[in-house]
Amino acid sequence: MNIPGIILAGLGQVPRLETVTLQPPGPDEVLVRVAASGICHTDIGYMQYARACPVILGHEGAGVVEQVGARVTHTQPGDHVVINWQPKCGRCRRCLAGRRDLCENIQGTAAPRVFWRDEPLNVMLNAGTFSPYVVVPAEGAVPIRRDMSLEKAALLGCAVATGVGAALRTSHIQPGETVVVIGTGGVGLNVIQGARLALAGRIIAIDIADERLALARKLGATDVINSRELDPLAQVTTLTDGRGAEHVFEIVGQPRLMQQGLAMLARGGTLTLVGAAGREDELTFLPRGFMSRQQVIQGCIFGNIQPEIDLPLFADWYMDGRLQLDDLLTHTVRLDDVPAILAEPQQHGGIRTVITFKD
Ligand SMILES: [Zn+2]
Ligand SMILES: [Zn+2]
Repeated sequence: MNIPGIILAGLGQVPRLETVTLQPPGPDEVLVRVAASGICHTDIGYMQYARACPVILGHEGAGVVEQVGARVTHTQPGDHVVINWQPKCGRCRRCLAGRRDLCENIQGTAAPRVFWRDEPLNVMLNAGTFSPYVVVPAEGAVPIRRDMSLEKAALLGCAVATGVGAALRTSHIQPGETVVVIGTGGVGLNVIQGARLALAGRIIAIDIADERLALARKLGATDVINSRELDPLAQVTTLTDGRGAEHVFEIVGQPRLMQQGLAMLARGGTLTLVGAAGREDELTFLPRGFMSRQQVIQGCIFGNIQPEIDLPLFADWYMDGRLQLDDLLTHTVRLDDVPAILAEPQQHGGIRTVITFKD
């Protein structure tokens, strides 16, 4: 079928709305009618660092299964699904060792399914949800309950998975521990929610925008610091009686903020890198104190979640009020609006903008 899609033709260009051709799903694939797709920081970042162009953008999505391949058994037409952009292989050493979050062989479709100008098109993160239909590998469609709004469910697929996952699955925050979150956009606010769900003690949010900090407080931060007005390191030191924080999450992707995060760590504390730095960026720090203070730096992608277990769980948490998403979805737009938004993302405020595909 011929459908519209947002395509990045080359690095540094503004993505544009084009017509693409979608092939039917193979035997181990699923055709999903996309209901909603969030615009994530990574979609914007792709304009600078996509590995291959041209590429169809979008990865944070939810929709309804339209058709399944002959060997697909875990879902059927009509199911509501969240798109999982890390479909695991289940057969590599890490999968077999029980660390599917570290799968060495993330799955794409068996053959290209999206074509543009008669050529196969790259698909962002095995998803490409800036389009009303996607074909994904079977594991890329994770069924969730049907009574959750699909606009909210789209957020589960990246902002919630990454943020709540970072807090609960990557960092294993324990009750009473102190948590610092540097950067309170869609992902950072969900780290705060994860910390709240883990019964953290102090949850300290750092940002430069008062409206985001107000939302951080609403979602569970016990303390907020506007780093334009106050020195965040001095503030964290005071708030923790000089001990520092057991967990610091850097969401922005700036080495300067990572260094600041390292300086905030308690003995044995862990800095979790969630924000994507530039490919050439370097982080320098003094290893002596880091060694003797027994600290840890770790990377985090997709919150180290188990998508088939955690995405439906997050849907349940939203529906029973434990996870708050309503305030995160600040704008809904149409697919035609996306090129203008991506051309000037700084002009477009709010936390999360979601594209909806309703007729
Ligand atoms: Zn994302
Ligand atoms: Zn694997």
